[in-house]
Amino acid sequence: MKHILQLAALAITLPAFAQTAPPEFTRCIDDLQGTARAAGVSESAYRRFTEDLQPDMSVIEKLDYQPEFRMPIWDYLSGLVDEERVADGRAMLATHAETLARVQQRFGVDPATVVAVWGVESNFGQNFGKYPLVQALGTLSCFGRRQAFFRGELYSALRILQGGHIAPERLVGSWAGAFGHTQFMPTTFERLAVDFDGDGRRDLMDSTADALASTANFLTKAGWQAGQPWGFEVKLPDGFSATQEGRRSKRPLSEWAARGVRRVDGSPLPGGLGSAGLMTPAGAQGPAFLVFKNFDAIYSYNAAESYGLAIAHLSDRLRGAGPFTTPWPTDDPGISRAERRELQGLLILRGHDIGEVDGMLGEKSREAIRLEQARLGMEVNGRGGLKLLRALRPQ
Ligand code: CA
Repeated sequence: MKHILQLAALAITLPAFAQTAPPEFTRCIDDLQGTARAAGVSESAYRRFTEDLQPDMSVIEKLDYQPEFRMPIWDYLSGLVDEERVADGRAMLATHAETLARVQQRFGVDPATVVAVWGVESNFGQNFGKYPLVQALGTLSCFGRRQAFFRGELYSALRILQGGHIAPERLVGSWAGAFGHTQFMPTTFERLAVDFDGDGRRDLMDSTADALASTANFLTKAGWQAGQPWGFEVKLPDGFSATQEGRRSKRPLSEWAARGVRRVDGSPLPGGLGSAGLMTPAGAQGPAFLVFKNFDAIYSYNAAESYGLAIAHLSDRLRGAGPFTTPWPTDDPGISRAERRELQGLLILRGHDIGEVDGMLGEKSREAIRLEQARLGMEVNGRGGLKLLRALRPQ
């Protein structure tokens, strides 16, 4: 009887016990309070927003994740700049035309560029990420290899909450702490977020006007030059060596013209523009681009040239331009999100558990793709391209 009572007591206390954070985490969060206070987080705010905080160790796995497969740029771009996103972006240009015009007037960044950033960052507000920010940043502040960096972001997130800009339960984002329509890190929010709807709060979760203006403010502070292009696709003369060139090696257009570089339609390079660098993201056989300072401003949003090119290209598509003229150097092109969803459906039909059909091709989809590639005698690399999609379609 005594044993049974003890077991019953244990059963009652177990769920509560399971919710207790590991002591080293609780200690770490306690230890950080002093520095948080020095960083402007009041003692009561710190207590309130970190009370009962549990670590989420999945963010440490994300931090240490090394992709075994590096995505070719044509896959990256075909997922980010597809017909669906161009159509959605044009709808956003129309819906928010008035706000975007005011944003352009104040910050000098054109509507298509602002909407392109929005589309790539959060799919026009449809994908904010699902990680509670204080939990994710608290975990990254106490475990893993970039604790000092993430502590700065944690204190910043707490200051944002303390300032009442965003409700605590609304502050969710990526595993690394980027949040809202524009996927700003908390310190970026503090430096650059703008209250554009005039309600006194800088709200990048629930105010489209604040979000669009904040994106434009970011680009302006990163050196955006009003009325200037990001760049354009070019045609290189036969035998041109681009190996020494890059985004940063900027030269006057007259110099590029003298070396035989022309616009991709064969016309001469325009005059009246500043210096540009030559980017050949897939080598000399693929599309080539001359890029100006405005490309650098876009680049600074996420420090990746493929990312910058996705936004730049989407902005051109939103202005009515077509796809790049020069094809990517591959016989197995990348596929759109609609085609990715179709591919996932075909994988499910073949009995694979790939989770949700989301057009993302994550771990489970790639594992199923590997199995299908092996079955079909294709190269086994987990990549979902046009060849695999065609092979799996019913004949
Ligand atoms: Ca506001």
